[in-house]
Amino acid sequence: MILIVDDKQENIYSLEKTLQLKGFRTDSANSGEDALKKCLKTDYALIILDVQMPGMDGYEVAETLSGTKKTKDIPIIFLSAVNREKKYITKGYESGGIDYITKPVDPDILLLKVKTFYRLYEQTFALQQMKTYLESEVQQRQKAQSELAEKLQELNVTLEALPQIAFTTDGMGNVDFVNQQWYRYAPSKDNWPELHPDDADVFKTWKLQLEDRKPLQKEVRLKENNTENYRYHLVKIAPVTKDLETIRWVGTMTDIDERKQLEKKKDDFLSVASHELKTPLTSIKAFAEIALRTMKESSNHKAYGYLAKVHDQAQKLNLLVQDLLDISRLETGGLKINIQPVDLEKIIQHVIDTTVMTNHHRKLQILRTGTRLNKPIYADSLRIEQVLINYLSNAVKYAPNSDVVIVDTQIDDQVLTVKIQDEGMGIPPHKIPFVFDKFFRVQEASAQFQGLGLGLHICKEIIAQHGGLCGVESQVGQGSTFYFTLPV
Ligand code: ADP
Repeated sequence: MILIVDDKQENIYSLEKTLQLKGFRTDSANSGEDALKKCLKTDYALIILDVQMPGMDGYEVAETLSGTKKTKDIPIIFLSAVNREKKYITKGYESGGIDYITKPVDPDILLLKVKTFYRLYEQTFALQQMKTYLESEVQQRQKAQSELAEKLQELNVTLEALPQIAFTTDGMGNVDFVNQQWYRYAPSKDNWPELHPDDADVFKTWKLQLEDRKPLQKEVRLKENNTENYRYHLVKIAPVTKDLETIRWVGTMTDIDERKQLEKKKDDFLSVASHELKTPLTSIKAFAEIALRTMKESSNHKAYGYLAKVHDQAQKLNLLVQDLLDISRLETGGLKINIQPVDLEKIIQHVIDTTVMTNHHRKLQILRTGTRLNKPIYADSLRIEQVLINYLSNAVKYAPNSDVVIVDTQIDDQVLTVKIQDEGMGIPPHKIPFVFDKFFRVQEASAQFQGLGLGLHICKEIIAQHGGLCGVESQVGQGSTFYFTLPV
């Protein structure tokens, strides 16, 4: 908006008309004092200021405006009928005005000047806004930077207080902070701790895969500087991302050597104990079988019943020892499978018959549904039988009040799925993710259901070695469906 200041209403009127015709918005004041008041309230793009006015003259008005922050940059065009001499014109410029027009006003010249000033005003305004924006941007960045520095400082203090090795790197994986523990395993900040020659170079692999932004978690052996001993550490490195960009990585290496040694001792013990148990147990079973066969004619003798029980229990013990042996083999990576063409349907039928026989005291109904396989699959028949026995005996064991079990097979897209469905007690949802874990039992302390919590873990490993998957769907009180898949 343009402010026209003149003590004569007719002058204001004619100027307003000229400017409004060209699309400019105008306002007017008929004295210097009035103009100053208006300037404080409204933002004007330009002031056309009459020099000769009663009271405050144009120069005084311009001087006052140039002394106030809000108005000092408003361009002014002085209008004067008289002061054409050079010294008056100069005075106009000194007092903050920018241009000068003498009366009578030539509308074309006035418009030319107004347009120029208006454009100048718009540009100045835009520049001003940009400046304000940039200033606030700079301020914000400075604030964010100092906050970040503070946070980093906090993080470093926290990492320093940790008993583990701790470090941070920039987004490119270059180490920029290490705590004191680092120096037990590395000579300097720029060297990573030395790994055991048999362990994969996790640091190198991680650096090659930075772009995937996947956290790293690996167990490796690190060489201690002083003793030159290797100690097991759990290495964890996690990305810190901002606006979809990894800005840094934070890592720890926790000494788990003691736990590893204990685990090894336990595995060694399991292995030795199960091997040692296996031999006498096989003898007990074999002699019980021979005795039972010998006593077949007197099978209604009390001793026959006792012997049969000895045989049953020896059989159960044998399965437990078998599980323990398998677990120790798994720990040492030695659970081998022997792939051959096998008739799965035959194995399923055999396992169903055995389960029915060993549970002769119950009226079990094991139903067979789904697609029958009419050609051999490639698998380890003994191991697959072991999985089926495990699934089926669990379905019977954990469903003491139901005698119906369904064995279903489906083939879809070269994948065979075997499902064993029971109507038993089911598994609470929060425990489902762990049922295939080693030593996990839902009813841990229950004497009603004996077991070691190893069977399903072994099944999972066997199926994984065949390239398949294990899983379970279950609802408490409704039953469970355990399944495994095999590539056909
Ligand atoms: P175990 O039966 O020796 O405890 P498993 O590894 O075979 O060990 O099973 C692990 C746990 O999963 C069992 O302790 C039991 O709590 C649960 N579980 C397995 N099968 C079933 C099932 N069919 N119904 C309900 N719970 C089951």
